[in-house]
Order: sequence, then structure tokens, then C-alpha cells
Amino acid sequence: MVRLIFLGPPGAGKGTQAARVAAEFGIPHISTGVMLREAVGEGTELGLRAKEIMDAGQLVGDEIMLGIVKERLQQVDCRDGFILDGFPRTIPQAEALDDILLAESAPPVVIVNLEIGDQELIQRIQGRREEDNRDDDREETVRARLKVYNQKTKPLLDYYQDRVKALTGTGAPEEVFERLNGMLRDVASVREEKA
Ligand code: AMP
Repeated sequence: MVRLIFLGPPGAGKGTQAARVAAEFGIPHISTGVMLREAVGEGTELGLRAKEIMDAGQLVGDEIMLGIVKERLQQVDCRDGFILDGFPRTIPQAEALDDILLAESAPPVVIVNLEIGDQELIQRIQGRREEDNRDDDREETVRARLKVYNQKTKPLLDYYQDRVKALTGTGAPEEVFERLNGMLRDVASVREEKA
């Protein structure tokens, strides 16, 4: 059982790595960005509200996000673990998530921060813009997203303090995954020894 929170700036490769972890460990990949983009695509009320905010590179409100994530974590496929990608993004989201997860008698959550330098980050986002054509990968939106990350999300590293493990995000996706996989296997085996 792996319960994982995946932190890191936009463009660090969280989505790619989270998808691989989910496949490797057979756990759901919960990406709040993907969920919001689906809502936008379906034209739901949430989607209509979220689109403008996402296009501006800003954050959707904490209350809305918490509602979405709480509901998702209650689904049966999350019973044996999950990987959260893109949530939490603010201190209030992290506090609320702690309230949800610490209340359960499940193993502790592993918190990983995918670290990457600014220069590589911008190059990667530019590459993704060309490949995926994501609306929010436009240059001015990217700048806004990085600013929001620095202001609202980076403080989570202080919030989690020694609960967070650093993962070097530079290099090919395969190399990063090897490092991440090793880290998670270590955690899982320590748990088994203790059990
Ligand atoms: P992502 O795919 O994780 O980069 O998310 C894309 C966009 O969705 C973000 O720039 C935000 O506008 C919105 N979003 C995703 N997750 C959250 C969250 N936890 N809190 C607020 N907004 C979010």
C-alpha cells in the first residue's frame, strides 16, 4: 500500500512520474489538474467556473478543490493507496488533507517533492506547449503559474518539514522514475519490517 503526495513546480514532470507510479503500484493517479480539465471539456458547472481561473494560471478556490478531492478519496479504488498529483497546492489544502488522512488508521503518507532548476523547468514547459497544446502552457500563463507556485505552493515544503523527501527531477523520465521507484520500495520494505 502506497499513499503518496507528489509536490513540485509546474513542468517538473509530476504528471509523467505519477502516471508511472500508479501503473507500477496499481494505485489510482489522482490529478486535480486532469479532473479540472475534464470538467472544462464536459462543460460542467465546475468546468465553466474553473476555465477562466486555469487559463489565467491562478488557483481554483480551496473549498471547491477540497470537495473534489474528498469525494475522490472516498471511492473504493483509493482503499489500497493512491498518488495525489497537483494537490495540495496551498497551506489550507494541506491542513485539510492532514485532517482527512491522519484520521485514518492507514500507513503514513509519503510526501515527495520533485526538484528541478528554473531553466530546465521553462524549457520543459515550452516543449510540452508544442506537444500537448495545453491552453495554460502559454508563456504569460506559465509565468503566472510559476509565480503562484512560489507564493502559494512552495510554502508547503516548510509546512511538511521533515515529512517531505526530495527527489531530483533532472534527467530523462526513466532515470527520474528509477530514483522514485527506489525511494518508494525502500519505504514499503521498512513498513513491512515494522509490521
Ligand atoms: P496541473 O495540471 O496540476 O498543473 O493543474 C492545472 C491548473 O488546474 C492549475 O494551474 C490550477 O489552475 C488548477 N488546479 C489544479 N490543482 C489545483 C489545486 N489543488 N488547487 C487549486 N487549483 C488547482
